Amino acid sequence: MSYSRKGKDSDIYLIGTEDGFECLGCPLMEMETYPTADFVKGLSRDRGEEIPYTFQMRGSAYMKTAKEALQHLQTHNYHGHRFNAYALERLRGDVRRENE
Ligand SMILES: [Zn+2]
Repeated sequence: MSYSRKGKDSDIYLIGTEDGFECLGCPLMEMETYPTADFVKGLSRDRGEEIPYTFQMRGSAYMKTAKEALQHLQTHNYHGHRFNAYALERLRGDVRRENE
């Protein structure tokens, strides 16, 4: 389930996973270097383009509990990052269920 999707009203992409929560390409995380996928290299070779063998993007943040995910959202809020308004309400509901 997605709690917030990147878009014109949101800078973050937070989803529920089997193990908890993941904030994908989190703006609070460091830039990380990833290898360029072979199929992308193949495509650009076909077009005669030179592409780098690595690219950079931010890493993901992982949270185990709804309480941690809620704190993570509040940290984004503190830094002025936007997220979908319903994310807070949904997570608060999850925290209540965690505490039952
Ligand atoms: Zn995040």
